[in-house]
Amino acid sequence: MAKTKQETRRSTQIIIAISIAIICLLLSGISIYFYLSLKGLNEEIIKHKEDLNIINETLNEKQTNLDSLIQTKEDLDNIESKIDEIKSIYFTNAVKAEELARSGQANFKVCYLTFDDGPYSKTTPGFLDVLEEYDVQATFFCLEKEGVDDIYKREKMNCHTIANHTASHAISYIYSNIDLFINDLLENRKFIEDLLGIKTDVMRFPGGSPQVSYSGLNSAAMVERLREIGYGYIDWTLTTGDGGGPTYLTPEQFMHNVTDYSSEFDVISVLMHDYSTNTLICLPDMIEELTAQGYIFLPLSYDAPIVRK
Ligand SMILES: [Zn+2]
Repeated sequence: MAKTKQETRRSTQIIIAISIAIICLLLSGISIYFYLSLKGLNEEIIKHKEDLNIINETLNEKQTNLDSLIQTKEDLDNIESKIDEIKSIYFTNAVKAEELARSGQANFKVCYLTFDDGPYSKTTPGFLDVLEEYDVQATFFCLEKEGVDDIYKREKMNCHTIANHTASHAISYIYSNIDLFINDLLENRKFIEDLLGIKTDVMRFPGGSPQVSYSGLNSAAMVERLREIGYGYIDWTLTTGDGGGPTYLTPEQFMHNVTDYSSEFDVISVLMHDYSTNTLICLPDMIEELTAQGYIFLPLSYDAPIVRK
């Protein structure tokens, strides 16, 4: 039986409705699929952004560390000039301190501890340990010696003054004429400058300045020659007696050779030798006693008033 027209139209409408429903379902499915995919992608992008932020923060941190390392390296490259700068300020203040002590305007006295004839590999490190322990700077009147480079360098690094005591200390030879003496002194200046980069400008005559005239040389002419080559010189106010005094003295007597007389001065230079174990033994007590007497300890410099020019 043939379908009526009405039935055919109805069937067509149903088919169209079903088709539309299927298409709608398909579109919804596709939309949901794309929505979920986009959501996942978005979450991934957010995560990558967070990772990127962490990487940026780490990079910034590393850059800051690098900048700081570069600055430290520059500081280290310039350490020698920085030390020289600080030393120069320190010596200027030391000179002012001596001037104040001399004028009676200070509530302290000034002591220059000086050690001659070194360095000695066996004994000098002990002296440097004591000075370091008491945070005291002194002056070392050095000779030209091989095999003790590390001690010269430690004296420099501990901010002691390195001064010139001639290369050889050979008294009968160097005092035979002024030229020989000056050459020996200049040889030691070159030795110290080559080793430490320090141009010494303070010296002490082996045996003291009277040794010049004892040896038959003209003292005034000698001092003039020293002036020409930029040296000042210094003798000493007091000594422990370790440079050839009686050998039976105890470390305590060595100390009293200094501390029994120091109270009558405002500025003193103390002569010692860094080969003397007696001096090494009494050094801590001497520093404490001189401190109790109101002394501060300074390293010598060319401009110090006690240095004769
Ligand atoms: Zn000497």
